[in-house]
Amino acid sequence: MVSGKPYRAVYGWTGQGEWHVLEMRAKCDHCGTGLRADKPESWICSYECTYCADCARALDLICPNCNGEMVERPVREARLMA
Ligand SMILES: [Zn+2]
Ligand SMILES: [Zn+2]
Repeated sequence: MVSGKPYRAVYGWTGQGEWHVLEMRAKCDHCGTGLRADKPESWICSYECTYCADCARALDLICPNCNGEMVERPVREARLMA
């Protein structure tokens, strides 16, 4: 696991088809663009690296840090609570 990134978000896979978001703040690990939990354009790899949509596509959805496959981060909770 990579540590020492103050902007690193913390997520946990509940195993029931949803992400449990512990920390809402995040920045793209590649370009540093700020990401928001209520925006659909954010991707996360299996090791919790976070990317904006532009970088995710540019990287072919493969995390350059750990070679993990990225998945689009769901925004279901934010929409339900709105
Ligand atoms: Zn980016
Ligand atoms: Zn990664």
